[in-house]
Formats: sequence, structure tokens, C-alpha cells
Amino acid sequence: MSIETSIGLETGQPYPYRRVELVEPDWTRFPGWRDVTRAEWESVQWQRAHCVKNVKQLRDLMGDLIDERFYADLERDQRERATMSMLVPPQMVNTMVPHAVPAGPGSFTEAFYGDPLRHYMIPVFSDRRTDWPSHPYASRDSLHEHDMWVAEGLTHRYPTKVLAELLPTCPQYCGHCTRMDLVGNSTPAVDKLKFLAKPNDRLEAMLDYLRRTPAVRDVVVSGGDVANMPWPRLEAFVTALLEVENIRDIRLATKALVGLPQHWLQDDVRAGMERVAGLARARGVSLAIHTHANHAHSVTPLVADAARAMLEAGVRDVRNQGVLLDGVNADPHALLDLCFALLDGAGVMPYYFYMCDMIPAAEHWRVSLADAQRLQTAIMGYLPGFATPRIVCDVPFVGKRWVHQVTTYDTERGVSGWTKNYRTSIEATDAEALTRTYEYYDPIHTLPESGQDWWRRRAGLDAQLALT
Ligand code: SF4
Repeated sequence: MSIETSIGLETGQPYPYRRVELVEPDWTRFPGWRDVTRAEWESVQWQRAHCVKNVKQLRDLMGDLIDERFYADLERDQRERATMSMLVPPQMVNTMVPHAVPAGPGSFTEAFYGDPLRHYMIPVFSDRRTDWPSHPYASRDSLHEHDMWVAEGLTHRYPTKVLAELLPTCPQYCGHCTRMDLVGNSTPAVDKLKFLAKPNDRLEAMLDYLRRTPAVRDVVVSGGDVANMPWPRLEAFVTALLEVENIRDIRLATKALVGLPQHWLQDDVRAGMERVAGLARARGVSLAIHTHANHAHSVTPLVADAARAMLEAGVRDVRNQGVLLDGVNADPHALLDLCFALLDGAGVMPYYFYMCDMIPAAEHWRVSLADAQRLQTAIMGYLPGFATPRIVCDVPFVGKRWVHQVTTYDTERGVSGWTKNYRTSIEATDAEALTRTYEYYDPIHTLPESGQDWWRRRAGLDAQLALT
């Protein structure tokens, strides 16, 4: 990686900003891709056909670069803990241990274990905590999106906006996926929820709800990942949305912009996006793309090309919503490196970092609210104000709250209290919805010993009660 300019290194700033040139790591460093050409690499069909979906395929790709203990560790995780099945496009694998294959026996394995992208895309058993692998209050649909469905897959949580889950699949599966309840294939640990209605009927029911609900002006079109929807069907849905008079904002959610940028660089997708973006502009509707990058290494020249292609096609903005993850990016330098790579290198606007949600087996990724607040403070002042991401906690039954908006915070037990200024769609007649305090919980291993003791005693009591 070459450094073009170096500003502030000598000024003693806590974060020395430096402009970094984006790099597509050399994929031929992996034994299984030694003969892969650039044309193959840039083909979305080749990328989809060569995704790593299981331990055997990882072994075929990496050969003995990785020790057996890693493969065994991965196999055990898949059997006992994984909430998402494995699906990693070559584009993403290539951003792991990106710069060079370290020399010496076992050194690649160590570098692979320590790699931030590997840490969330290919989780292994030894990553997870053994004391509290899951928080006692973790749940499969931790944000209760399903409870707020007003049509199958259409979550109406905030007063003016909805989330439309068009499909339950993605071109890549992230280990920490908050929609682990629904998205992806079932794993030994998680039998996934299935949509019941036929896809066309579901989408029609969503449009029908939006047509008769003028209070909704903003639709997040998501999944899953919209990159897995055949373009003509996605275009038809967005075009139908644009015909709903009350819809003023449409955001297309696709991690594939960073996981499989080749998808968004296809000629037919670019031409189709140009058509819907033109229609949106003509109707005064803001059409944007929201993507999900968690580490600067993900932002490669191909990702920048895909983001620029979408901006050239006429979308109003491409924004990033990352997830704050321990071992990946929970560090001010890592967050700022990512934000500058997005902003300087790819024209992508840093927007949010979500605290990792309270899903099962996620405690090793989660950070405490206090740490999230410290990180928010540490990243202020370096980026332009409009590109300074907010770190938010998605509080069950509340929604996104900026981490400094907390109302009460017991740092000994790791219990934070939050209030809200709107009702969700299931609280129309709940007299206390606007005055109640809703709780969120820090990972127990981050608490002082007295707080951890309190949770242990409580877990013991709960176990006793369950037996009586
Ligand atoms: S891309 Fe998004 S929806 Fe798909 S697995 Fe990752 S976090 Fe979940």
C-alpha cells in the first residue's frame, strides 16, 4: 500500500491522517487462484461460482497455507455455534491478510486468525466466548422486526419509514448478521424462519400497505441483499414504489457493493439503475444506496468503481452503515481509516456504525455502551461534519439511538435505559410507550467482577426457577 501524502504525522495528533491509495490485493497469492485472470476476477458469474461455502472449499483454496487446527476450529463452529452459513465471495476472501503472505511455518495461520475480515466473515469456535457465548437476553429477532410486520417482511417501526425485506438471501453471509433469524440457510444451531407467501404476493402486499399509509414517506429496500434479486424484478419493485405518491426517500441496501462489486458493475445493472434514478429525479424522490463495510481493507478499487458507477447512474448518494465489532474495527484508528477510505477513495459517505445487536453467540463481537461512547468521542473532529458517522445503539422496541442519548446507565451491571419520542406500529394504544424506559445490555465479560457476579447469581436463580 503506498502512501501518497502524509499529513499530521509529526504534529502529535492522536490520529495521523494520511491519504491512502486503494489497492486490489493480488488474488494469485492463494494457491487455488494462481491461474485466475483479471477477466475472470471481474466477472460476477466467476465470483458467484467460486464463493467459499464450506471448509473443503476453503481448504482447496488455501491448501496448507492454513494449519489443520484452523479448519478443525471452523468445522466445530459450523457444527455448534454458527448462526449464519458460510458464503464468502472471492472478492472478500481476497481482502483477508491482503498485503503479503508472511514467511515461516504457521505464520499465515496466525495472520489469518488475526485478520479483521476473517473475524466476522469466517468465525471459528475459538473466537467465541466460553463464559457467556450469548447474553441471557439475546434473541433471534433481537430488534423484534417480525413483531412489527405490517405485511410479511415489511417492518413498520418508525412513524414515517419502513423496512422492506424483499428476499431472505445475500451474495455473502456475515457471521454477525442481525437478521440471522430469517436470512440465509439454516445451520445446525438455527433453523431459519421462512417467508410463507409467494414472492410476488408479498411484494404486492407491501406496495398495497404503502399506498394506503400516507404517513410513510421513506422505504429501506433490503433483505437479505437486493443484489440477489434479479435486476428486472428489483427495477419493477422500485418503479412501483416511485408511483406511490407519499414515498419520497428510497434506499437500496446492499452489502454486495463491497462484497461483490462486480454485480453493480454489470452493464445491465448500470443501465437499469440509470433508468430508475432518472425516474426518481423526475419525481423528486431521493434514491440512494446503503452499503455495509466494516474495515478499510474492504474498500478496494473495484469497490470504488462500483460506488462511482452508481453515482454516475444518478443515485443521490452511496452511504455506509457499518457494524461496530470487537476484533474488527472497535478502535478509533480502524474506524477513521475506514471512513477516509470510503470518503476519499470511493466517494461513499460514512453514515452509521451500529453497535452489534444482541443475537445469540455474538458476545465476542459486542462492545459495551461506554466503549461505543468513547469511540464516538475519539472520531469527532477529523472528518467533515456531514461525513462523521454516528455510532448508534439499536434498542429493542425503540430503534436507533445515538450512543450519547442514553437516559440511565448502570455500568456495574451493564444495563442502559433508553426512551423514545414516537410509537412503533404495535404501540398505538400503549399509554406508556413514550414514558417507559427500555433496556439494553452490555456484554457481561466487559463488566467489573461485581457486575459479572450479579449476572452469574441471576443465571443460577433463573436455572433453579426453570427446574421448579
Ligand atoms: S449482508 Fe446484511 S443481511 Fe446479508 S448476511 Fe450480511 S449483515 Fe446479514
